[in-house]
Amino acid sequence: MDAELRSRAQRVIPGGMYGHQAVANLPPHYPQFFVEGKGARIRDANGVEYIDLMCSYGPMVLGHRNPVVEQAVRRQMRRADCLNGPTEHMVRLAELLTQNVPHADWALFCKNGTDATTLCVTIARAATKRRKVMVARGAYHGWAAWCNPNTNGITEEERSNILYYEYNDLDSVIGLLAEHGADLAGIVASPMRHDIKKDLLPVDPEFARRLRTICDQLGAALILDDVRCAMRVDLRGSWEPIGVRPDLSAWSKAIANGYPIACVLGSDRFRDAASSVYATGSFWFAAVPMVAALATIEEATRIDAIEMMRVAGQQLRDGLASQARSHGLAVTLSGTPQLPFMTFAGDGQLTKSYLWADECVKRGVYLHPFHNWFLSAAHTAEDISRALDATDDAFGVVVKQFGRD
Ligand code: PMP
Repeated sequence: MDAELRSRAQRVIPGGMYGHQAVANLPPHYPQFFVEGKGARIRDANGVEYIDLMCSYGPMVLGHRNPVVEQAVRRQMRRADCLNGPTEHMVRLAELLTQNVPHADWALFCKNGTDATTLCVTIARAATKRRKVMVARGAYHGWAAWCNPNTNGITEEERSNILYYEYNDLDSVIGLLAEHGADLAGIVASPMRHDIKKDLLPVDPEFARRLRTICDQLGAALILDDVRCAMRVDLRGSWEPIGVRPDLSAWSKAIANGYPIACVLGSDRFRDAASSVYATGSFWFAAVPMVAALATIEEATRIDAIEMMRVAGQQLRDGLASQARSHGLAVTLSGTPQLPFMTFAGDGQLTKSYLWADECVKRGVYLHPFHNWFLSAAHTAEDISRALDATDDAFGVVVKQFGRD
């Protein structure tokens, strides 16, 4: 079935598939097509079941088809989704988010992470009447021209106002200020460095504090791209634990447990600019994703989803660390338990990661060789322990092929 769908797709979808969900860049046993998901399990088009450690690249924070979210969605579906204007749920959602997130005085809703990050940059420029935006080299903020990691089809002009700093390296930020400080509209940062193919790196709190000070001194916007981490690190926003509050933050992925919605949260200082820019979309005001977001946030709060993910993620990390040790393999576990990642020492070409991840997939555990993984509140201790049975065997295959470190 998967093979047949792939060959049909090859004829009618450019490249057979595109973007981060194209399996062309993944090891050979990764399925391309899926048919269902429930809790922490997914099933591919061949009927094979997996413990899902990618959670649709983030969105499924409560697990697939969470009953509370699904019930709220079904109730709203019976009434309406896409209308001539929003429903009351939009106001309720903005109220809930501005209550939960200390830096936020208002919310704008859109669809994808790229909408939200692009809107943040647009609002920062509208507010400051300046052009330059700093982003960390190698960071992903979406597929739009200003931030797309692939420059095919993108002109130099579209990038001419983007400046690059190195994550956690204050000197690299300061180095850009002499020439560009007066024209700086904003600095974009991720809550942690989570670039693909690299160990995840926590933010240095002092670095974050200095970004805050620099933005305050220059009147620029500090923009937190919380698209990937939001709802997994802290429900109040991912820099709240370190006490650094952005002016604008971009949220998406996990806020509605898989339903399409993103949002920009901002402080009063940027309210007028936010209302001055023109930003909209045919589906941006749809009710169902807003209802899903309300249910997801309320349920995540009620069950303390972050703590559940932390516990399951810690079990996974501890298990992987001890397995790697007993196989005589040197690995680095990075990220937080809720967004973990693992690399093999000296594996620059990711050869070991590819083999190991493929062996996991063959044994019914879906994780990723070069993108961080995601836990959900649906992962039970038993799911993790079954996943660890597979990872242990997969380590064994790596040792067989490459030997011990
Ligand atoms: N920012 C970050 C940090 C992301 O991880 C992503 C998606 N991987 C985006 C922005 C873009 O989100 P989307 O794919 O929904 O446009």
